Amino acid sequence: MRKFISLLVVLVLGAGLLAYFGKNRPTRVSAGQTQSVSSRPELEYLKAANRAAPPKDPQLLFLLMGAYANANQQLEGAEFLSARLNEFGPRLSDPQKALYLSAIGLLRAQHASSVSLLHRIGYVKDTVAMLDDFHLGKLALADGDQIKARDYLRQSGYKSFEKPIVLTTPFSEDTLSGHAFASRRIAEIIPGRVYGLSGFEFTEYYFVVSDDRRELIGIDAGTRADSAKTAYEALRGYAPNLPELTTIFVTHSHWDHIGGQAYFRGLNPKPRFYARSNYKEEIDGELDAPGSIAKHFFGERFNVDDVRSFKPDATIDRPTELKIGGTRIELIPVHGGETHDAMFIHLPDLGVLFVGDFIMPYLGAPFAVEGDFQGLLDAIDIVVQKNPRYMLHGHEPLTRNFSSPAMLGQLKTNLSWLRDQVLTAIRRGDTRAAIHQANLIPPGLLNGRADALLPYLILREHVIDRLYHQNVGYWQADLEGLDHLGDSDRAELLVDYLGLSEKRLVTAAEKMAADGKYELAASLLEASAARFGRTETIAKAEQLVYLKLMEKYQNTDPFKYILYSAKIGEQTPAMTTSK
Ligand SMILES: [Zn+2]
Repeated sequence: MRKFISLLVVLVLGAGLLAYFGKNRPTRVSAGQTQSVSSRPELEYLKAANRAAPPKDPQLLFLLMGAYANANQQLEGAEFLSARLNEFGPRLSDPQKALYLSAIGLLRAQHASSVSLLHRIGYVKDTVAMLDDFHLGKLALADGDQIKARDYLRQSGYKSFEKPIVLTTPFSEDTLSGHAFASRRIAEIIPGRVYGLSGFEFTEYYFVVSDDRRELIGIDAGTRADSAKTAYEALRGYAPNLPELTTIFVTHSHWDHIGGQAYFRGLNPKPRFYARSNYKEEIDGELDAPGSIAKHFFGERFNVDDVRSFKPDATIDRPTELKIGGTRIELIPVHGGETHDAMFIHLPDLGVLFVGDFIMPYLGAPFAVEGDFQGLLDAIDIVVQKNPRYMLHGHEPLTRNFSSPAMLGQLKTNLSWLRDQVLTAIRRGDTRAAIHQANLIPPGLLNGRADALLPYLILREHVIDRLYHQNVGYWQADLEGLDHLGDSDRAELLVDYLGLSEKRLVTAAEKMAADGKYELAASLLEASAARFGRTETIAKAEQLVYLKLMEKYQNTDPFKYILYSAKIGEQTPAMTTSK
């Protein structure tokens, strides 16, 4: 029943979305529609992935459906999926057919027959619970039961029943405490031995009970002292008989993995911190990045001084073996894709490898000078060689998407191909936009491992951007970078030379949004605001455009989601999972 309700909710929300954008718009004819494919390489990629074969991973179909809906191309989406359903029909299992039908149903905003969604994994489950509450609340509201409606609304995590976008994301945004990738939970990854804490803040916490059960070992220190305290006390409440925390291993000295150190330092006894010997260079580099961005990620409670003052008790500069409470531990320095002070923590007897952020898809924080593509490939070799049963990352979506050493082995080949393509394109003088628009898909990827399709998509955009940034100077082949024109210059062009009024500009931006061209609309509104200020009309248009950008990236790009949310001061409440 729950699944059926969930499907209905998805359909109802989808219908709402259609209704919202259907207003004041002429009916579109798909044949005459020359929607630029180039501006949505991720949609093109998802189409290619879904065209190759029926999806083994339901997420890929789910994401394609969302991408079509976000692009306001519902009709094209329904046609595309109907064609796949016909083509693959005889080969499909019943749950797969149901998945197609429900996606087509959403896109057509019709109630499909009584189909149930294919088993949903991980965060999708939370989404279903959230949508259930939201929908049940709406039903209660329709019945005039305000109290019940409010109760459901609170459980769903939403503040109001009015929302112009469909959020199916596990992410949450809060002004004080920043971004979280998942809802709060404590998992016993190995019962009684390895605990993982998700959703307490930006970063995961892990704790390991030593073989002799007399020591607790922590992996990373979190982002802020207050969230470290909350997380650690939650663990103590969950498992009251854990031994004392004696040791903390730091996977890398990024803001979000050491910022909570002050709390742990205050414990009695004081745990001993291990980090890489080059931790200081890493910290100096990140302190040079624009500090204003940090609070959008980590919340206003974030205190950069707790990062600046970090000083480990022991430093590691070569592969090191040690024993703590009888547990064998290998500390393996790596360059990794993100920072040069990365360290894998391997517990061979438990089959656990803590990998930090070595495969953070941004290849280093996108607003800092870092990232090492070759370091990523080399670190993949180590993961493949150690072949752990549990690969535990610094952030929940990474653990979810990059969970298999064998998959990483294939991904390495795919990414190497991508690098060659990007470097060749750069030498040829291609623009960054052209490289993205090329929708680069490695040979063999679409017919290879199903679990590599989403990881490749998540990485592709950022690998291109990082490699481009690292291989092109401040002047580019198309002469981009020679001038220094800004928003006020563009406003001059639009208003003084083209004679456009604020009203005309906003109308144009709204039209772009209706065509799913949100980035373009956002840039036009920036220029408009540079001349007219953030007037009510401009602010209203911005609100819609950035909400749609949040929707667009809610399942594939958390950092964009964070920054677009911050742009309009939009918070996303955390979901509750106490169901
Ligand atoms: Zn991190």
